[in-house]
Amino acid sequence: MASLSQPTVLIVEDETSQVELLKFNFEKSGYNTLVAMDGEEGLLQAEEHTPDLIILDWMLPELSGIEVCRRLKRNETTRAIPILMLTARGEESDKIRGLDTGADDFVVKPYSVKELLARARAMIRRSNPIQSGEVVSYGDITLDSDQHKAFRDGKLIKLGPTEFRLLSVFIGRPGRVWSRDQLLERVWPHDLDIDLRTVDVHVGRLRKAIKQPGKTDPIRTVRAAGYSLDLDV
Ligand code: CA
Repeated sequence: MASLSQPTVLIVEDETSQVELLKFNFEKSGYNTLVAMDGEEGLLQAEEHTPDLIILDWMLPELSGIEVCRRLKRNETTRAIPILMLTARGEESDKIRGLDTGADDFVVKPYSVKELLARARAMIRRSNPIQSGEVVSYGDITLDSDQHKAFRDGKLIKLGPTEFRLLSVFIGRPGRVWSRDQLLERVWPHDLDIDLRTVDVHVGRLRKAIKQPGKTDPIRTVRAAGYSLDLDV
């Protein structure tokens, strides 16, 4: 199958030397990187690009890392993105506060870059299993990326390559709402001329293929926001 785009990591950190260290090492390991030097900028970039992982510094000027984390987890667009917090203080109470706010993991400064990369990789794999070529299921929908096949309730769903990629994106994060721009970025990473309406057309085809007699339509259209794979509504 055509490989999905490289994972993107958003680094939210105000210290230039830290930013450079992280950027250099993530890029060397095959990630795309985005950088925000303060919390507000971090929130904007997270919403606009929906990265696969956010590295978030605890000590930021103005909006603190904790507050950024809280807002990311309250926003429907960004809530599913895993957050790895960096903290200079190793105190347990901070760690607990951070985890309460929704941070998914913690690394205490000064950290080993190797360890941080290993944790980052594991977090991305957990949140987006499809990138590692596994068989992924959500409800009665199953996607086998090695065989390039999708099933509903055990029955093969016939999908074109674009619809397959769309379903791969959706099933990696069920319940998450994707804007058409975000889908464009993921499904057509190298096509710059694709119209947003093309996204609607392919989502429509995917919906038709996946909707079987007597079964619910799992693709939710969220007005003014986008689409989501969601069996719970
Ligand atoms: Ca800092």
